[in-house]
Amino acid sequence: MPLRALLYRRPSEPQAITLVFDGMMYLVRVNRHRRARRYTLRIHAATREVVLTIPPRGNLNEAKAFAERHGGWIAARLGRLPKAVPFTHGTMVPLRNMEHRIVHRRTMRGTAWREIDERGNRLICVAGDAPHVSRRVSDFLKREARRDLDAAARRYADELGVKVKRIAVRDQSSRWGSCSTTGVLSFSWRLILAPPYVLDYLAAHEVAHLVEMNHSPRFWRLLERLCPHMARAKVWLDTHGADLHRYGAPDPRRQHNGRGARASVF
Ligand SMILES: [Zn+2]
Repeated sequence: MPLRALLYRRPSEPQAITLVFDGMMYLVRVNRHRRARRYTLRIHAATREVVLTIPPRGNLNEAKAFAERHGGWIAARLGRLPKAVPFTHGTMVPLRNMEHRIVHRRTMRGTAWREIDERGNRLICVAGDAPHVSRRVSDFLKREARRDLDAAARRYADELGVKVKRIAVRDQSSRWGSCSTTGVLSFSWRLILAPPYVLDYLAAHEVAHLVEMNHSPRFWRLLERLCPHMARAKVWLDTHGADLHRYGAPDPRRQHNGRGARASVF
């Protein structure tokens, strides 16, 4: 953390507050910002996070009161986002853009695997106790993403005669992929939910950066030669990309038994 941020950080400042509005509880992340001039609320559509920014000299009680006054706004904005799809029994997940149903098989051995049932339905089966289902599905999808990304990146690297140092598969909300100057390629695991030609395009894009570390006309010409379905993949991402963030996303809303608007700190 930079020194200036440390100076403005109160030692006992909480990371988040909860806000109750209309019977629902909302988790609001608190962010003290040295250049902020007033209290502001933001909703990150990709991560579904509610963020409350506090100016350097602002205080938490004022911040809470501000959030309470805007409870209706938070509720309305979150309500307009496409519905979150948690990884639970019965949920449909578009693995490689094909609908798969999550089926919890508590008594089975193993972790998570694919299956096709007698009617031809595609399933993602998960063993073990219910609290582990979500993490096992997400681990399974990350493994599948890594397998496809490894294969595609290796193929493109061979074609260009370059070497991929390492591939990292992460939960990054801002970018689908990136390439470091040290040759490490990073990707969002959510690409496994897109059509395979989209994942393939991202692999080609990041491998092409091992030759051209920029977005110059030369880079795009190289990439177009390497990956003829580039334009189609970009259109798909522009149209459907944001939707992939719904999956496995925690919902900041919780049912609450109390009434009225009230904020508490934890
Ligand atoms: Zn790029």
